[in-house]
Amino acid sequence: MRRTKIIATVGPATDAPGMLEHMLEAGVDLFRLNYSHQDGGRHEERVARIRELSARLGVETGIIADLQGPKIRIGKFGNGPVTLSEGQAFILDVAAPVVAGDAHRVGVTYPLHEDVKPGHTLLLDDGSIVLKVKEVAGMEIRCKVQVGGELSDNKGINLLGGGLSAPSLTEKDLVDLRHGVKIGVDYFAVSFVRNARDVEETRRQLIRAGSAAGIIAKIERAEAVERAEEIIEAADAIMIARGDLGVEIGDAVLPAIQKNLITLARKKNRPSITATQMMQSMIDNQIPLRAEVFDVANAVLDGTDAVMLSAETSVGKFPDKVVQAMARICEETEKQPVARFSDHRISQNFNRIDEAIAAATMYTANHIGARAIASLTETGTTCRWMSRISSTIPVFGFTRYPETMRRMRLYRGVCPIHFDITHTNPFEANREIIRILREKGYVANGDRVIITKGDLQGIRGGTNNMKIIQVGQSLETDA
Ligand code: PGA
Ligand code: MN
Repeated sequence: MRRTKIIATVGPATDAPGMLEHMLEAGVDLFRLNYSHQDGGRHEERVARIRELSARLGVETGIIADLQGPKIRIGKFGNGPVTLSEGQAFILDVAAPVVAGDAHRVGVTYPLHEDVKPGHTLLLDDGSIVLKVKEVAGMEIRCKVQVGGELSDNKGINLLGGGLSAPSLTEKDLVDLRHGVKIGVDYFAVSFVRNARDVEETRRQLIRAGSAAGIIAKIERAEAVERAEEIIEAADAIMIARGDLGVEIGDAVLPAIQKNLITLARKKNRPSITATQMMQSMIDNQIPLRAEVFDVANAVLDGTDAVMLSAETSVGKFPDKVVQAMARICEETEKQPVARFSDHRISQNFNRIDEAIAAATMYTANHIGARAIASLTETGTTCRWMSRISSTIPVFGFTRYPETMRRMRLYRGVCPIHFDITHTNPFEANREIIRILREKGYVANGDRVIITKGDLQGIRGGTNNMKIIQVGQSLETDA
């Protein structure tokens, strides 16, 4: 069983007949809707399709709505991608954001002319194309191509060194947020977060829209790295958005920042997602580069909860094969011996009873060599605490809520299982849980299983006991 989770971005390539199904079979845990690229209409269809296929396969698949944020982007081209060559002139036109571009000019959907000056360096498409600003004439930014290449629709623009101060949630994001709430997404990813206030504002907007979806703060600005602690505390998870982050702060510091952010998130009981260019060459190729194999493996070893695919699946040639490759690398890497005796939070106090039970369960499971942990959970919080502690033992999150199952798809080592405690005699719950685990082939006679639940079943935050059961012995029938 793979512990590290896989997030795949949907797009034109995943709309191919049968593709979403192949990707689900290959092991996608959550799909990401990129609101920078597709209009709501397509997303609605895609979500309906994902839900339908998931139901058929008997799984709950998480959906992440990734809000564009104040990302500056070029517009579209009239005749597909263009090729820019070094030394040529190229104009970014703020006055004509929706006019189809060509090899000499393209629109920009942000008043960039107010922020840039001659001499500034603009980085397009995560830095693969470099433009030098020569002149700002009204709303026209006249540039010279310093590093050329192929440029396609809606690619991002960064100002080298950062310093653009737009708020994290734009008008467009608020519209997209309401759309995401309407189609029932499980998480919202917030782009270009600057501080905890940006996250809190998103939370207010979600509550106003009647949604309890989780918030993933994308760390992609220099300011956000400095304020990582408060951002992590305000959010439900973080994404190490290496694309924009690397452009803004420089690529060489990314590995250290990735490791630090993953560790910090874990310490603060939050999951982390490692994103961008993990398997970039598989947009065109059927197998990954060795460097990409190492990148995915290293993120797994760093302790990330999830690895993410962007263009590899949304516009790549082999969306299903890239998921297969990623799954293979994660699974193999997870076989590396990890420290079985975690000292995560060992010298800290726990404020809550359920939190103490979660930690005690993990220590006990690790030390007694349990085969599985089964946690009856309403919100998934107990499983999130458990998944922060290193282990090779699977945590099965038993819940009656599909929303909780989908939310838990992000947590490393956690496998959600549908189970309606309210339809079960509480005295039979242990027996039922063991029966399900045995049926699915996860445990057999003689295995030890740890079960956590609350005395008052079906109550949030009510987990107050753990029980060690030896499969096949009569103990499992006791409450
Ligand atoms: P994006 O975010 O793909 O939405 O830009 C990820 C990143 O910047 O790495
Ligand atoms: Mn980004």
